[in-house]
Amino acid sequence: MAKVLCVLYDDPADGYPTTYARDDLPRIERYPDGQSAPTPLGADFTPGHLLGSVSGELGLRAYLESRGHTLVVTSDKDGAGSVFDRELVDADVVISQPFWPAYLTPERIAAAKNLKLAVTAGIGSDHVDLDAAIAHGVTVAEVTYCNSISVAEHVVMMTLSLVRNYLPSHQVVLDGGWNIADCVARSYDLEGMHVGTVAAGRIGLAVLRRLAPFDVKLHYTDRHRLPADVEEELGLVFHESAAAMVPHCDVVTINAPLHPETEHLFDDKLLATMKRGAYLINTARAKIVDQEAVQQALESGQLAGYAGDVWYPQPAPADHPWRTMPHHGMTPHISGSSLSAQARYAAGTREILEAWFADKPIRDEYLIVSGGALAGTGAHSYAVNSAPDR
Ligand code: NDP
Repeated sequence: MAKVLCVLYDDPADGYPTTYARDDLPRIERYPDGQSAPTPLGADFTPGHLLGSVSGELGLRAYLESRGHTLVVTSDKDGAGSVFDRELVDADVVISQPFWPAYLTPERIAAAKNLKLAVTAGIGSDHVDLDAAIAHGVTVAEVTYCNSISVAEHVVMMTLSLVRNYLPSHQVVLDGGWNIADCVARSYDLEGMHVGTVAAGRIGLAVLRRLAPFDVKLHYTDRHRLPADVEEELGLVFHESAAAMVPHCDVVTINAPLHPETEHLFDDKLLATMKRGAYLINTARAKIVDQEAVQQALESGQLAGYAGDVWYPQPAPADHPWRTMPHHGMTPHISGSSLSAQARYAAGTREILEAWFADKPIRDEYLIVSGGALAGTGAHSYAVNSAPDR
């Protein structure tokens, strides 16, 4: 019987919800590329309930305990003597979320003598040292596509919020004010602007599709070009690199994975080549931008706004400079953890565990590391010696 250690974010400050704002969720059977949404044999949770926090337990307790496994759930993941470190020593399976990552460093993987499976309940396994996982024969899997559209929607929301100056205008209302000029002195229309994405994979392409009806000019850069019919349908301009693209753009959105090629891609030099007053949206990974360079670009006016919800480290300390820099629209890594996304990644996690315990293959699209090598989606999207986000 296995010990499953699950690291989730804390419950709401007022306690675990007993009621919800809505009664149901739309049923998503397939993603835009045809991949089916998770298909576990069973599910012991109500879609639309809070599953990603400690008391939500990803809806896994009844399933695991009825089969004799042990489930330990904690949010205490960092620092000496954390519950995660204590419980990891004899855990067979670790489940963690990118929003509240249990950083599986080489030291922790070496200390976890029984560890055989690390599941990311979400997308992005860069909190797991993949070299160490490979060396120790740990399988790594994530729930590919579960929250890609959730993130794309967040990018659209942030793009409009920054360009229209929504957040400060709403704050005026909350503060009891009515100075319209204060609100509109930084407010523009998105229509006619040039918007570019660094990477046009699942999220990047979904962003392009969602922004096309706003009558913007769309740009992208990626390691591979999209099919010609997609470029034509959306009127896309392809650029060989981010450096070639960003000088043309009023809004840039980052949708690439973190790896050595993208780490600190947006540094002083690249930011200086952007149009003065451009907006930058980063929902991918914090380390793709240089933290101080972004802060300085906002202070100097080189950037008119920065938004996204990925930070380093996570959780961000109370004095993280991004909390107080001007003209930002940061959130605490929520874009991929809507209640809608949670239902999908909880179901995907269950599907992975069902396959694992039944000794059946995990879907190729969920696999990152298997059999001592990158595998499935991991073989395409990840590189070894490249887990810098910890
Ligand atoms: P995909 O794998 O579908 O797409 C990533 C794209 O980036 C691929 O087309 C890839 O090309 C391309 N790419 C890789 N390196 C570069 C580069 N140096 N320059 C330009 N393009 C590059 O991933 P998703 O769209 O699903 O996700 C993107 C990232 O978003 C994830 O890696 C993850 O870190 C982050 N994410 C954030 C979430 C959140 O909650 N905020 C949730 C989900 C994901 P190729 O295929 O040729 O390698």
